[in-house]
Amino acid sequence: DAKENAKGRYRFFEPSLERRLVNRLTREAELKLAIEGRQLILYYQPRVRGDSGEITSMEALVRWVHPVLGLVPPCEFIPMAEKIGLIVPLGAEVARMACEQIAQWRTQGLRVVPVSVNVSAQQIDTGTVSTMLTGVLEANGLDASLLEIEVTESATVTKDGAAVSELAAIQRTGIKLYVDDFGTGYSCLAQLKDLDMDGLKIDRAFTSRLGTSRADAALYEAIVSMAHALDMRVVAEGVETAEQLAALQALGCEEVQGYFIARPVPAAEAAMLLEKRFLFPAP
Ligand code: C2E
Ligand code: MG
Ligand code: MG
Ligand code: MG
Repeated sequence: DAKENAKGRYRFFEPSLERRLVNRLTREAELKLAIEGRQLILYYQPRVRGDSGEITSMEALVRWVHPVLGLVPPCEFIPMAEKIGLIVPLGAEVARMACEQIAQWRTQGLRVVPVSVNVSAQQIDTGTVSTMLTGVLEANGLDASLLEIEVTESATVTKDGAAVSELAAIQRTGIKLYVDDFGTGYSCLAQLKDLDMDGLKIDRAFTSRLGTSRADAALYEAIVSMAHALDMRVVAEGVETAEQLAALQALGCEEVQGYFIARPVPAAEAAMLLEKRFLFPAP
């Protein structure tokens, strides 16, 4: 009797396996409908020149406006989309929204900058990303120079070479390629060089340690000089303090991004940032 009670209570707090399965299937089905039903929106976080604070590009970061849960961050659904085969249609929807937004900003008379879109390794593996991207650019009457993509190191290192040829195909269209979260994965430097990547975004784990020790500064400096030696631009991610910004300027980092400069914001607020053009706080 007592045993049964305990079991009952346990069930009350912890949904049964069956219930959890239903929850998961519901969420997965909902995501499919969200992509088709335009519940996804893009936030934009500026990237600025390290020396002047001038906006160089806007990174598109997807959010799900869930009818019950509200604004859902990408860490809650991108891994799920990758697992259940929805990342390809999701990625296409993101690219479409990004291009529509650029066209709209241009119509509003704003000085447009490229929009940078995150692309999963699985999308690269399909071998269809370059075609998809040129399609959405054309549909909106945009030049390829207005789109950039960010891929993690894992997207550059598939063994069959399919990813390499797709990345090269993207590059031939004129779209710029950046390695995202650099330093968190394992990439072959020779391959990054052969791929002729346009830049490295150094992961915020490195940026956050700037200023805490000389060894960390030396490591950062080594990454920056290596990138420069390979003719790649350097973008520091996750800049949160004035001290970090000053250290990055001293290192000759071309571009910086992070909460200290601007948080990701909805399109209307991003338009106001574009109007401001320079984002460093007045000295
Ligand atoms: P990411 O591409 O590396 O983007 C940077 C993430 O760090 C963003 O989180 C951004 O809001 C956050 N961030 C920016 N500056 C700072 C800072 O100074 N401090 C801290 N603590 N965080 C900062 P978000 O928007 O939640 O996106 C998380 C990740 O989700 C992205 O990391 C990216 O990997 C993925 N993601 C977002 N949108 C897409 C998309 O459209 N497609 C794909 N495949 N992945 C996406
Ligand atoms: Mg990114
Ligand atoms: Mg990143
Ligand atoms: Mg990241």
